[in-house]
Parts: sequence; C-alpha cells; structure tokens
Amino acid sequence: MEFGFTEEQRMLRESIRRFMKNECTREYIRDSSENERFPIELYDNMVKQGWMGIPFPEKYGGAGMGPVELAIFLEEASYAWYAAGVSYFTTVILGGYNILTYGTESQREYFLPRIISGKCKLSFALSEPNVGSDAASVELFAAEDGDHFILNGTKMFITCAHVADYIITVTRTRRDAARKHDGITIFLVDAKSPGLEIRPLKQMGRAATHTNEVTFKNVRVPGENIMGKLNEGWANLNKGLGIERLSVAMMYAGTSQAIIDYAAGYAKERIQFGKPISKFQAIQHKFADMQIKADVARLLSYRVAWMLKEGLPCFKEMSIAKLYASEAIFAIANEGVQIMGGYGVMKEYDMELFFRDSRIGMIGAGSSEIQRTIIAKQMGL
Ligand SMILES: Cc1cc2nc3c(=O)[nH]c(=O)nc-3n(C[C@H](O)[C@H](O)[C@H](O)COP(=O)(O)OP(=O)(O)OC[C@H]3O[C@@H](n4cnc5c(N)ncnc54)[C@H](O)[C@@H]3O)c2cc1C
Repeated sequence: MEFGFTEEQRMLRESIRRFMKNECTREYIRDSSENERFPIELYDNMVKQGWMGIPFPEKYGGAGMGPVELAIFLEEASYAWYAAGVSYFTTVILGGYNILTYGTESQREYFLPRIISGKCKLSFALSEPNVGSDAASVELFAAEDGDHFILNGTKMFITCAHVADYIITVTRTRRDAARKHDGITIFLVDAKSPGLEIRPLKQMGRAATHTNEVTFKNVRVPGENIMGKLNEGWANLNKGLGIERLSVAMMYAGTSQAIIDYAAGYAKERIQFGKPISKFQAIQHKFADMQIKADVARLLSYRVAWMLKEGLPCFKEMSIAKLYASEAIFAIANEGVQIMGGYGVMKEYDMELFFRDSRIGMIGAGSSEIQRTIIAKQMGL
C-alpha cells in the first residue's frame, strides 16, 4: 500500500501552496467575505496558472490529470481559503466535470476549453423551494415546444449562480412517469436568457461564494442544450457524485488543517496563569482530537481519490468521506472557538469566520442524515 505522492504531485502541491499563500491574504478574505463579493481576481489568477484544466483530458485543452491531483489542488486551495475551493469546484466540477461525464461531444468541445481559459463560469441547479433531500421530486418543468423547451419554476440555494455564464438546470420533462426518478432532463441554460432572474441570498457563512434563488419564467432553451438524454437525467446525476463528494470532503479536510494551525498559533501566544495556554493539558488534548479528525478526513478523502483513480466502486466510501469531513470541520471550528475564548467569537479574528463557514458542510451536497442513510443501505441494511 502506497501512502505517498509522486515527485510531480509533490511539486504540484508546493506550487499551489505558494500561489494560494500570496493570493489569499487575510485582508482579501475578510473583504470578500464581508462584502459578499465573488473573488474574481483569485479566480482569474487560478485560470492563468492552468489549474482549471486539472481533471480534463488533453484533447479539450486540459492537463489530463486524475482524481488524486484534483484532491491535492482542492486540499491546498481550501487550506488557504475555503472560497478558493468553492469558486473552483462550482465551475470545474459541478459544471465542467458533469459536462465531461454526460454531456454531448459538441458540448464538451464547446464548454471545456472555455472553462479552462476562464471564459465560462457555471453553476449547478438541482434544489428547489420544495425539493431538497428528496432530489428526484424535482418540479421545475420543461415543456417541449418544437426544437426548444420552455422552462418554468424556481431553483433554490444555487451557489455562484450570480457569476455564472451557464446554469446546469435539472428539470422535469414528464409528469406522468411511473417513478419520480423517470422524466428528469438536464439542460445547459444560458444565464442571460430572457425570463431568468437571479436573486442573491443572505447566508450565515461562505458569503463570498453565496447561494441564489433562480427563477425561470418561460425561459426558452434549445433542445440541443440537453445534457445526456431526454427523460433520463437521473442516472446521469449519480455519475458525477464520486468526484463531487470527494471534492467537498477534500475541501473540508484542507480548511480543517488551516483552522487547527490558526488556533495553535493563538494558543502558543496567549498567556494565562503565567504560561501559554498551549501548555495546559486540557488544551493540548483538544488539539490532539482536532488533528485526529483532520487526518481521518484527509485519509478518507484520499482513499476515495485512489479508488476513483483505480476505477473501483466507492459509493459507500464517498459518502463516508463527505459525512466525516463535514462533521469534522465543524467540530474542529467549534473547539477552535473554545480555545480562543472570547476572541474566538470576535469579528477581528478569523476563527468566527471559520466557524460560520464550517457549519454549512453538514447540509449541502447531501446532508449528514442522507449520507448516513446511504452508508447504511450500502452496508446491506
Ligand atoms: C451553502 C449551500 C450551498 C448549496 N449549493 C447548492 C447548489 O449549488 N445547487 C443545488 O442544487 N443545491 C445547493 N444547495 C442545496 C442543498 O443541496 C440542500 O440544502 C440539501 O440537499 C438539503 O435540502 P434542504 O435544505 O431543502 O433540506 P431538507 O431536505 O428539507 O431537509 C431538512 C432536514 O431534514 C432531514 N431529512 C430530509 N429527509 C430525510 C430523510 N429521508 N431521513 C432523515 N432526515 C431527512 C435533512 O437531513 C435535514 O436535516 C446548497 C445548500 C447550501 C446550504
């Protein structure tokens, strides 16, 4: 069993770490978060480094790398700042990787080079006001009209839709199907289409890459923008899940380590009872538990990356990684606040931002309850 990285992977990690350290300054992070501003400068500079192409084949202009390199990128990016990971993930994985996996060849040829060169940003719209965990109950309706479809309905909590050029939109195209999973069709929708409105939502954390309500009123979409096959979208949705869950788990693992390092820096400086609080056994034990959680999250995530690279089935393992890493980051941030005492909840310090950003992981990309249900089912229960 091999736990290490190749020389190329080590060099990739180093260059991402150096780049992110320069880009994600404390001032930039605070300013973007407080002003709910998408980090466009960071995004454009990531494009210039060629990193948007990591998971895409060379024939589309990509770097032809695999899940392990993608995991390295997301871990390092999210160590620097969670939003570096999210802004990348939304376009490259939820957008581009889904196009690569089940888009048509002409969609791949059109979109992937544009994603890699930074000309096209995407978001992914599945959730609706009445459709959350029960994702197959999607209601937004696409009615056939000659060689076009007319979309009516509302999508909810759509990350980065306000900066997207195209929105991958999951719709219902048949209401009379025997099973709710049938009659689902996925479209690439131009975000500037007449009748499409985007309303930014105010949320507790992750404000720099916030979510949006997206309303469709008679939005006309060409039939050629269907991804995969008419009425057969559900099977395709599940194809992108491995990389999606690996990506979010890896982001949580990266940010978890950043939280620990930040708290450790504080604990070594903060003097009480005549010595740094890091010398108190009660505080040391908190750090030990935090580090164990971060390490387990990281190892579970790299296990999924390796299984995906080897082409092994990993439906259970990807849910385990996502579930564990999302609960770990919140537990770590919670202890981080405790270690910093009153300063932990003050806006002048980064811990309160870590704390707010970390809470969302247990809800988005399939809640903890849903992940536990999937794991139990995979165990044959
Ligand atoms: C910050 C953020 C970003 C997001 N980004 C996107 C995005 O880009 N695109 C997108 O399409 N969606 C996005 N979402 C939506 C996300 O996928 C949903 O929030 C998630 O699927 C849960 O749906 P819900 O919020 O409607 O909760 P509900 O499904 O209403 O669930 C409420 C509670 O009930 C529990 N529950 C529901 N069903 C069961 C069950 N069968 N058994 C046990 N417990 C159950 C849930 O676990 C949860 O605790 C985002 C959400 C957030 C918070």
